[in-house]
Amino acid sequence: MKEVGLYVHIPFCLSKCPYCDFNSSAVGRNPGPERERGIRDYLDALKQEMESWRGRVRGRTLFVGGGTPTLLDAEALAGVIHRAREWFSLPAGAEVSVEANPGTVDPSKLAALRAAGVTRLSLGVQSFEEQALRWLGRAHTADDARQAIRWIRAAGFQNLNLDLIFGLPGQNLSPWQATLHEALRWEPEHLAVYGLTVEEGTPLAAWVAAGRVELPTDDETAELYEYALDTLADQGYEHYEISNFARPGYRCEHNQTYWRNEEYLGFGAGAFSYLENERWGHVASPAEYVRRVKHGEGLVAECEQRNRSEQMGETMMLGLRLCEGVSTSRFQERFGCPPDAAFPEALTRLTQQRLLTFDGRNWKLTRRGLLLANQVFLAFV
Ligand code: SF4
Repeated sequence: MKEVGLYVHIPFCLSKCPYCDFNSSAVGRNPGPERERGIRDYLDALKQEMESWRGRVRGRTLFVGGGTPTLLDAEALAGVIHRAREWFSLPAGAEVSVEANPGTVDPSKLAALRAAGVTRLSLGVQSFEEQALRWLGRAHTADDARQAIRWIRAAGFQNLNLDLIFGLPGQNLSPWQATLHEALRWEPEHLAVYGLTVEEGTPLAAWVAAGRVELPTDDETAELYEYALDTLADQGYEHYEISNFARPGYRCEHNQTYWRNEEYLGFGAGAFSYLENERWGHVASPAEYVRRVKHGEGLVAECEQRNRSEQMGETMMLGLRLCEGVSTSRFQERFGCPPDAAFPEALTRLTQQRLLTFDGRNWKLTRRGLLLANQVFLAFV
């Protein structure tokens, strides 16, 4: 039976952050009968969908993401994890990650997650500055994040990721330094640092278009990113993907499945899967997802068969996100030719432009390429 990375999507958040284009909707803080029914219906549908795949694949890793999975009550979330582990025969010791947000965890929920076999928590801190959190529209304070970290450690989790965002309007080096250094004081095993991006259709995009918000220039953002690169390297973190840094032995196994262009199966509204050269995504609306599951209708909203040349391009684009880059031998094994035979012109040009380098085994982004990665990826579309 095939071994894949498993992803489960929980599309609910306390409120919607104005920069976010993930498939998530705000359900508010107060449990009311309508909110509870909506969540219960979604979880029932999720269970049914997962059951329909039982016995067809084995899980290698499990990632419960969102949205805010920890908005679910402990029993419901632990139930999702237990079922996924059992139904897809996750090996003992497999990585089981859950995304969490400050303000939605407490000691008893964390204990339940530990008991359910969660090995890794990823906490959406974003910033330790109150002003930045308010601007980002986050539903939590910096103290909520500090409290969540204390509880996570007290519950015994030894693999913690903190998500941070840089490049906010008016953010110069000093507040970013303050956030990054506070994050380091908490000694996370993993850090994910993302530049704020303007996603189409979000309130942030409208603010930028209306001139209400001025984002830092590319050079200013690059300075913040480079500060993170240098600081985290000094502190012993391995930079293993454009935005991801880990203590040795703590790279996220599940996310590496995506970057290596390997197979994964996603459950839930808007979840994506990649199996047997086919990539598909589910309907995004949770209500429509529930309706279709109930009526036994197809869940797929988009589906593409990847031909060999598309697979090669995607393998380059995704693999170059990893600092180890794209291995010529693995590429050759999979496609029957090395990358420089598949993309001779692009690789020559990007090397001349000092965006890519080849160390005799792997093609990788240079430091300059890291800053201009999107430009590099375009060559493989
Ligand atoms: S908490 Fe995360 S998923 Fe939810 S709205 Fe904010 S950024 Fe999006």
